[in-house]
Amino acid sequence: MANDYYATLGVRRDAGADEVKKAYRRLARELHPDVNPDPETQEKFKEITQAYEVLSDPRKREMYDLGADPFASGGGGGGAGGFAGAGFPFSDIMDAFFGTSASRGPRSRARRGRNATLRVELDLQETAFGTTRELSIDTAVACTSCEGSGCAPGTHPDTCDTCHGRGEVQQVQRSFLGQVMTARPCPQCGGFGSVIRNPCPECSGDGRVRTRRTVKVKIPAGVENGIHIQLAGEGEIGPGGGPPGDLFLEIAEKPHPIFEREGDDLHCTVQIPMTAAALGTNVTIESLDGPEGIDIKPGTQSGQVITMYGRGVRHLNESGRGDLMIHVNVETPHRLDEEQEDLLRRLAKLRGEERPPGKFAPGQRGKLSRIWDVFNQH
Ligand SMILES: [Zn+2]
Ligand SMILES: [Zn+2]
Repeated sequence: MANDYYATLGVRRDAGADEVKKAYRRLARELHPDVNPDPETQEKFKEITQAYEVLSDPRKREMYDLGADPFASGGGGGGAGGFAGAGFPFSDIMDAFFGTSASRGPRSRARRGRNATLRVELDLQETAFGTTRELSIDTAVACTSCEGSGCAPGTHPDTCDTCHGRGEVQQVQRSFLGQVMTARPCPQCGGFGSVIRNPCPECSGDGRVRTRRTVKVKIPAGVENGIHIQLAGEGEIGPGGGPPGDLFLEIAEKPHPIFEREGDDLHCTVQIPMTAAALGTNVTIESLDGPEGIDIKPGTQSGQVITMYGRGVRHLNESGRGDLMIHVNVETPHRLDEEQEDLLRRLAKLRGEERPPGKFAPGQRGKLSRIWDVFNQH
């Protein structure tokens, strides 16, 4: 036997009919001349098809397994080149190339509408606590004149003359395998099986019209920059009376002049003079909930973080809020007048800090150290 059909299809000798069929389909899709027209691939395609013809037919397979010529007793066309005979597995080939061989029938005019995306700019107050917005969107709605059918009032679609309502036309194609019957969507009706001779004048047969629509949407608390909110069924209506797509709101959070958001926590920086940091004070700061007084303890260091629990952004879809982290920045006085400089020198002398040694402290850079500070506080 010149060819090992099992090796050609890449299946074991005890492979079942299903396995053989699967292997053939996979290879046929890969090696089909329409996909890969070079002569070598075409030769390979012939080989796998011949192997399949034998292994998919129990009688031929038995003969082949016994070492006899499976094409000898008039089962097929007889060997390579002439195998497009009566026993040729055309339906399986059609399956492999064109998907299911089951009749597809005409397709519906109704299709689902497209999704739409709308960018919504919100400020921090709105994302933190949620809001309700009225949004104007340019969209497609069902045509009231024809109720989505696309036909002028009082008319109906006519059955297509070309495909007689089937939506597809058969075509005989000549290929190296012989004549192959293929089906393609009817060019006359576009595959719908019917033709609208009197399109609705309002929508030109589309079944929908473009308009500007206002939607009132509730934006939940806790959304953040880049998040998408899906509003099911609020997108464009589909053509031919099809269902609407979805509307997606893309949240764009405007930067806040004071607060920097990190998840549901907010960060801000408060500047206090060196003397206040040393002696302690009470300052009023702005929070999302209005002005709040905070205690600066005596001896507060620059970079220290004061956390106000539950004063951040509300958690999305759950209770509670993030925190507000107040980063203290101690201002070193400069442009001292004579009296001030004298006072500071006396203080330095009293504290023995006239010639202080430099001391290394853990790195203090950016947010990482801020977070470090928060942990150190607890
Ligand atoms: Zn219409
Ligand atoms: Zn047609």
